[in-house]
Amino acid sequence: MTTGKEYVTAVFEKVKAQNSHEAEFLQAVEEVFDSLIPVFDKYPEYIEENILERLVEPERVLSFRVPWVDDRGQVQVNRGYRVQFSSAIGPYKGGLRFHPSVNQSIIKFLGFEQIFKNSLTGLPIGGGKGGSNFDPKGKSDNEVMRFTQSFMTELQKYIGPDIDVPAGDIGVGGREIGYLFGQYKRLNGYKNGVLTGKGLTYGGSLARTEATGYGAVYFAEQMLKARGEGFAGKTAVVSGSGNVAIYATEKLHALGAKVIAVSDSSGYVYDKEGINLETLKQLKEVERARIVKYTEHHPNAVFTPAGGDSIWTIKADLAFPCATQNELNAADAKALVANGVIAVTEGANMPSTLEAIEIFLEAGVSFGPAKAANAGGVAVSALEMAQNSQRTPWTFEEVDSKLYQIMKAIYTNSAAAAKEFGEEGNLVLGANIAGFLKVAQAMSAQGVV
Ligand code: GLU
Repeated sequence: MTTGKEYVTAVFEKVKAQNSHEAEFLQAVEEVFDSLIPVFDKYPEYIEENILERLVEPERVLSFRVPWVDDRGQVQVNRGYRVQFSSAIGPYKGGLRFHPSVNQSIIKFLGFEQIFKNSLTGLPIGGGKGGSNFDPKGKSDNEVMRFTQSFMTELQKYIGPDIDVPAGDIGVGGREIGYLFGQYKRLNGYKNGVLTGKGLTYGGSLARTEATGYGAVYFAEQMLKARGEGFAGKTAVVSGSGNVAIYATEKLHALGAKVIAVSDSSGYVYDKEGINLETLKQLKEVERARIVKYTEHHPNAVFTPAGGDSIWTIKADLAFPCATQNELNAADAKALVANGVIAVTEGANMPSTLEAIEIFLEAGVSFGPAKAANAGGVAVSALEMAQNSQRTPWTFEEVDSKLYQIMKAIYTNSAAAAKEFGEEGNLVLGANIAGFLKVAQAMSAQGVV
């Protein structure tokens, strides 16, 4: 009989051979596969049904040309993607990322993670992801609009409220979702469940903007509770200064912790008084300014440009990587551990390298993996879909309390799976297994499709 290890290793070898140039995708796959070995020992029928090889192959990968005209009248071309990874438990669901680093490997890693994350929310949503190598930075509103309209003109052929429901991610916020929605509507009529993260005046959900950041903090709260700790008096370092970082900071402050550093791709600011949230929101949500400008408002804060000491060398009790993939490596993890960090919560997708995760787990740091800890965003997206179908908006408190319950359940289910499969406290393993089992059961029930 094939063992779990033999099966997982054989499938991984095949995945590696077929996707050898997709480093980020392979990294995301390796992390999940390692966790699943004991699952296949327990459920050999999933080996027989070859669930893993089917799951790791996207149902569909779309790649398309996005031509648009810039403000100087020059014709530009970008590449657009949508990976419809798995519809085993619901319509494809996942964000769109506009960033120059976007390529097929990045979108596939994000889409693969999304399957498990969405399953963990307990809501009926499958996994997908999309985006473009378009860089919104430095572009005028009109350029962003023209690009976005061209992107949606192609994407709209493949999405719909019961088929595939995109949302935001890095580089895609309220402005971009507005333009995307406008163009979709122009071509297909008003179907408000086709996108989430919409503005509040046209079908968006209260608390969607806050959801990923708040959710990560609610998840961290559960991890701290399990150690007999709380937020009061704790210091935190939060990387990034986008939507996730801003609302993680807001909730951390509300619960009694002090965020002492935030960053963007140009560097980070350290403010020992605690990051001023009003300034941060003004700079990032209104002015779209670089983070160095924070020091003009708060002269005691210190700016360190990218390439200098990493943000993870700052001593803090809690770390929230909320910027981007692979922003926290082994050296960073060692520095955090040496400085006595007790919990690391991933607000971004795959911010820690595999080596960094290993270091945290070995040091007994509570580690909240992205698919569990940052699932609050997509969870509230699913609640937005529910409100759209119901044609009734819910109050902020209603959505926020559902978010809280969902994050708590994700923690409980992940912790329970880790314990059941012999690695108590290992939430990486627990989240991967808990997320996988529901998808595997659905795939098994639906036959070979
Ligand atoms: N981009 C977010 C994520 O990584 C949210 C996706 C969504 O709301 O569909 O989960």
